[in-house]
Amino acid sequence: MAKSKRVVRRLILSKLYDLLADQYSIMYPREPFVGGDLSVHELDALLAFRSDPRLEELRQALDRLENGTYGICLSCKSAISHDELDTDPAQRLCSTCEQKLMHVPMPSYYHSATL
Ligand SMILES: [Zn+2]
Repeated sequence: MAKSKRVVRRLILSKLYDLLADQYSIMYPREPFVGGDLSVHELDALLAFRSDPRLEELRQALDRLENGTYGICLSCKSAISHDELDTDPAQRLCSTCEQKLMHVPMPSYYHSATL
């Protein structure tokens, strides 16, 4: 069964919080943060100047949750499995598309250096 938006939001926010607390030792209590008491502007202020791709991924996942595209593969538009979203709530691609992208051939100059 699909999780409610509120539950997913909490999951994403808790990942964001853990990252901010571990890497940037933010001074903000966990519960209001994870519970979503924080406004979008406050959240953006906390994330500002931290050019961490993982923070950005989670921030974008929140946006997708708001605009209704969360859990939909960006490439083929099919639904991403709940297992994958549980593992990584910021997942943007379904497993099929991710596999395809992993197997995109490297440009030839990439190999020539190691031959
Ligand atoms: Zn896909």
